[in-house]
Amino acid sequence: MNQYIHFTEYSPVGDIVVMSVCLVMMVLVFFSYFSKTRSSRLFLSIVGLLFLAACADVSFYTLAVRPEHQVMANWLRLVFHVLILLIFLYYIAYICEVSHFTKDRPYRWFANLVFFTVLLWDTFVTLQGLTFVVDETGISFIRRGIFIYAYLAFIILCVVLLANVRKLLFHRVMFGFYGTIAISFLVLIIQGISNQSSYTVATLLLPVVAMMYILHSDPYDALLGTNDIKAMQDFVSNNHKKKRDFVFMSLYLKEIEEEGKEIPKDIQAIIRQLTYRFVRKGSLFKIGKGHMVLFFLKKDNPDYKQRAQHIIDDSGTIYDRFTYKVVIGEAVDEISENNDYVSYIRNIHKSMSDNSIHIVDLNDIGDFETTEYIVRELADINYNEDLNDPRVLVYCQPVLNVKTGKYDTAEVLMRLDLKETGIIYPDQFIHVAEEHGYIHTLTKVILHKTCEAIRKFNEEGFDIKRISVNISALELKDDDFCDSILKIIRNSDVPADRIAIELTESQNEGDFILMKQKISELKQEGISFYLDDFGTGYSNVERIIELPFDIIKFDRSLVLASGSEDRYRKMVADLASMFCNMNYSVLYEGVEKETDEAMCKDMSATYLQGYKYSRPVPIEELKSFLS
Ligand code: C2E
Ligand code: CA
Ligand code: CA
Repeated sequence: MNQYIHFTEYSPVGDIVVMSVCLVMMVLVFFSYFSKTRSSRLFLSIVGLLFLAACADVSFYTLAVRPEHQVMANWLRLVFHVLILLIFLYYIAYICEVSHFTKDRPYRWFANLVFFTVLLWDTFVTLQGLTFVVDETGISFIRRGIFIYAYLAFIILCVVLLANVRKLLFHRVMFGFYGTIAISFLVLIIQGISNQSSYTVATLLLPVVAMMYILHSDPYDALLGTNDIKAMQDFVSNNHKKKRDFVFMSLYLKEIEEEGKEIPKDIQAIIRQLTYRFVRKGSLFKIGKGHMVLFFLKKDNPDYKQRAQHIIDDSGTIYDRFTYKVVIGEAVDEISENNDYVSYIRNIHKSMSDNSIHIVDLNDIGDFETTEYIVRELADINYNEDLNDPRVLVYCQPVLNVKTGKYDTAEVLMRLDLKETGIIYPDQFIHVAEEHGYIHTLTKVILHKTCEAIRKFNEEGFDIKRISVNISALELKDDDFCDSILKIIRNSDVPADRIAIELTESQNEGDFILMKQKISELKQEGISFYLDDFGTGYSNVERIIELPFDIIKFDRSLVLASGSEDRYRKMVADLASMFCNMNYSVLYEGVEKETDEAMCKDMSATYLQGYKYSRPVPIEELKSFLS
């Protein structure tokens, strides 16, 4: 009844290689940033099981040939089988985990069935006595177990499972796995043909090497000692789950980030040393060209405030050479929950001046949550594209026509009315809308509402010559820009010359050409153009006169400067008269006082706008200024 299969060739080389590679992997895991997700825990378990399986295999072959240890060897064979099958079970769990495969139940059920059947049967066989015989030809196995069938069943199961998750995984990752499995198979076949049994465990090692390389390696930047943003998110979610308090220190180097340069070698050396000199078990992450964040646990660094101070004291060279922003703060549950430290820190940067260090306080968290709320509301407004969206309010500031002494034009200014914040002002949402690409939808809503208001004023017999709308330079980049503006104006039955557009200057050559095209196109339809905020930024007069603007809006800062010093006043007056001579109209913004008005009138003002006449009011209230 006994059938023998001969494995005359066994050398421990294969298993020793497996043990060494497993050890190397553990060393790498220990010294690198290793993520602590479920898939990485499964991965580590597989490495551990492989190590044990190789040990069991070597021990078996060593003991089996000695008569006095044969009983022990008999049991070791069972242990070896169980370990190999466990590795398969973990492989299946691993594939399901990395691919987020949700229909995994039948696979697991079948795998467990195979595993427990083999366990029971093999235990039964082992209990009956030796599962192998030793003679002069070597060790031969008695074919009574079913391990070999289980092994094949698992291979088939893995291949079927991989075929099923194929579409869920990135194809290169997939080919990585298939490739290593194919090589493993090849090794198994060669081993079978040459009557070998030395490389069984090694064949299971190859896919692990692929996993480590493809999915779990997060290499250090060797010069800086940093890991990437993915590792940072992993750090946050892992410590948040374990309810460990942590602290972050963010260093932002403006020139490096904005100009996309490399950090100079000597500065890299300083950064890499700071981390381990002053902080225990810190992890440094690089989240932008010039933006790094150091994280560490509070329990490892209870005196972290002093440590942070040491870091700051020792960063002098960095601070001397670059424009910097440093933010220091403790973990905040809501932000860890959403893994949102990058946006959180960037939001804090906005309210920081250059070359400053900021310690996070409760206001920052409140601000951030408000910003996040605004972003959600803006996304919703953008998604709905409702031109009558009640959250977008049209405020309006009348503009005085100096010649006639009447208010016959006005500027619309946007406000948002949101449930949780009430009315909010442009400084809180315009840049957010620009960053997220929602600004054009806001423009469309405000333009539509403005046109509706103009139509109503006309129907009610009020005289309004023109209302100007602010538009972001970004919007011009959209190919449909002109069409979408014209469509809204036409749909409202308001003549296009009742609408004006305010734009600010741009330094960028490409933007300049684009601006010129779009302005010319819309001007043909009758829309007028205002150059907004003249006197802030670059104010390149040569450039400005190349663009067909109608009205130049002198910024409030020029009004203030003219009021404070004579030489400014002379300069502003000269500029204004120059524009007038070139047939532009000049509008002064921010006229607040009697004296401002008199001065601006002296400086070639065509139009005046400011709190002296009115603060921005809801557009319906504009009527009280019209004749
Ligand atoms: P801006 O276009 O320069 O608008 C003038 C700003 O100065 C308005 O602030 C206005 O309320 C304020 N202002 C008016 N008169 C005076 C004054 O006498 N003294 C002082 N100190 N300030 C005065 P607001 O409404 O907060 O708007 C700020 C900025 O937000 C605007 O600057 C504009 O750049 C932007 N903005 C407003 N509405 C829109 C819009 O619908 N679309 C776009 N893209 N930007 C908008
Ligand atoms: Ca404006
Ligand atoms: Ca302005």
